[in-house]
Amino acid sequence: MLPTVAIVGRPNVGKSTLFNRLVGKKLALVDDQPGVTRDRREGQASLLGVDFTIIDTAGYEDEDPQTLPGRMRMQTQAAVENADVALFVVDARAGITPLDEEIARWLREGDAPVVLMANKAEGRAGDDGVMEAFSLGLGDPVPFSAEHGQGLADLFQALLPYI
Ligand code: GDP
Ligand code: MG
Repeated sequence: MLPTVAIVGRPNVGKSTLFNRLVGKKLALVDDQPGVTRDRREGQASLLGVDFTIIDTAGYEDEDPQTLPGRMRMQTQAAVENADVALFVVDARAGITPLDEEIARWLREGDAPVVLMANKAEGRAGDDGVMEAFSLGLGDPVPFSAEHGQGLADLFQALLPYI
């Protein structure tokens, strides 16, 4: 059985874009409108010759904001439960939000190792967000651009102990 990487994070940070890039097929729906990805999706990914199973989690983007954190927590925990590593994605352009901090808390309380990725880090617009991500207490964030495919070697380095 291949090792499993679960992509988690709040809506619109680029989880499905990352999934598509690693799987190499358009298995996850990506759209400029938040709320497109409905289901948890699994695919087989390959990174510099290492194969693993990757799970893309949906965002519940159009749920009632009152209930969003609770629903996201259940979904995040379910995805991470049987994973070898949680790949926690934040948006370096948007910076760290309260929901990011809450997800970080759930992950710190869980058993799965966490690799933190600061996505949308192409150019300079993500520099501040990458620095902010250090404050989540989950180690050094990997600067990444799922859209442009930048950071793959560093992501590989960070995931390698777990896959
Ligand atoms: P998800 O809700 O976390 O699955 O996010 P999506 O993958 O659907 O992406 C949300 C939006 O962010 C889309 O408009 C993507 O094109 C955009 N996006 C994803 N990755 C990047 C990136 O590396 N850089 C930039 N600038 N935008 C990105
Ligand atoms: Mg998605």
